[in-house]
Amino acid sequence: MKLPAFDYACPTTLAEAVTLLAAHDGDAKVLAGGQSLVPMLAFRVASPSLLVDLRKLSGLDEIRIDASGVRLGALVRWRDILDDARLARAHPLLVAAIRHVAHYQIRNRGTVGGSVAHADPAAEMPGIAVACDAELAVTGKGGARVIPAQEFFVSALTTTLTPDEIITEIRLPAWPAGRRFGFEEFALRRGDFAIAAAAVFYDPDAAGRAANAHVGVIGVGDRPTRLAPVEAVLNGARIDADTIARAAAATSAAVTPQADIHASAAYRRSLVGTMVERALLAAA
Ligand SMILES: Cc1cc2nc3c(=O)[nH]c(=O)nc-3n(C[C@H](O)[C@H](O)[C@H](O)COP(=O)(O)OP(=O)(O)OC[C@H]3O[C@@H](n4cnc5c(N)ncnc54)[C@H](O)[C@@H]3O)c2cc1C
Repeated sequence: MKLPAFDYACPTTLAEAVTLLAAHDGDAKVLAGGQSLVPMLAFRVASPSLLVDLRKLSGLDEIRIDASGVRLGALVRWRDILDDARLARAHPLLVAAIRHVAHYQIRNRGTVGGSVAHADPAAEMPGIAVACDAELAVTGKGGARVIPAQEFFVSALTTTLTPDEIITEIRLPAWPAGRRFGFEEFALRRGDFAIAAAAVFYDPDAAGRAANAHVGVIGVGDRPTRLAPVEAVLNGARIDADTIARAAAATSAAVTPQADIHASAAYRRSLVGTMVERALLAAA
C-alpha cells in the first residue's frame, strides 16, 4: 500500500525538532529507523501530517559506558549494540536480548528509541528496560525529564510520552561483576517477535543465595512486566532445581496473557514459565 501524504522535516537540532512536534499538537510523528512507523503509515494505523526525521541530530547515536552504567542514545541501532564489544561486559543481558531482534535489514535501521516509543509488548528493548530498572531521558516543549521505564509503558503501543516529547537516551544502571543472568525467548521463527520471553538476573550473596532478583517477561501482557512474586521466590534462595521449579510455577500464575493468532492464552502462560525456568538454569 502507498503511504498517505505527509510533509517531511529533517531538523539539525533537538530544539528545532521539539518545536516542530509542539507546533503540530499531536499531528506530527518522529521518524527514527522507520521500521515500525512506515508499516503503520502503509496500513493507515497512523497518518500524521508531518514526519520529523531525527537522523541529523548529533550525539543521539552514541553508546556511553561509565561507572553509572550504559547510556544508549535514542538513535543507537540494533547493529550498533551487537557490534560493540564493550557491552559483553558492561551489559551482557542487553546483548543477549538484542540478538533476538528481527533480521539483518531491520537490525541495520531500527533504533532503541523507536522501539521503546513504539511500545510493542513483545519487543525485547522495552522488556530489558523494565527488567533492568532503566530510565528514559526525554525532551519536550516543557524541557527535559527522566521517566523510569516501569512508569513509561501504559499498554500496547501506548506510553506516557507526550506528542511533543522526544526520547534522547535510555539509561541502564551499572552491571556488577559476578551478576548471574539469563535471557530466553520463543518465537515462531528466529527474528520474529517473541511469543514469550524472559529476562532474569540476580546477585549471589557470600553464601551463594540470590539477592536483588529481577524477573521481566514480554509477550504475555499488554506491556513488559516485572514479576514481583517470582522475584520473592528467588531472593534469599539457592537457585537449585527446586527453586527454579517454584519460580516457573509462580511465573505462570502471575501472568494473564491474551490469546491471539499465534498462541492461546494457556499456551503462553505455560511457555513463559518455561522461559523463566530456562533463563534461571542459564543464570545458575
Ligand atoms: C519484519 C519486522 C520484524 C521485526 N521484529 C522485531 C523483533 O523481533 N523485536 C523487536 O523488538 N522489534 C522488531 N521489529 C521492530 C524494529 O525493531 C523497529 O526498529 C522498532 O520497533 C522501531 O524502531 P525504529 O527506529 O524503526 O522506529 P520508527 O519506526 O521510526 O518509529 C516507531 C515509533 O516510535 C516513534 N519514535 C521513534 N523514535 C523516537 C524517539 N527518539 N522519541 C520519541 N518517539 C520516537 C515514532 O514516531 C513511531 O511512533 C521488527 C520490524 C519489522 C519490520
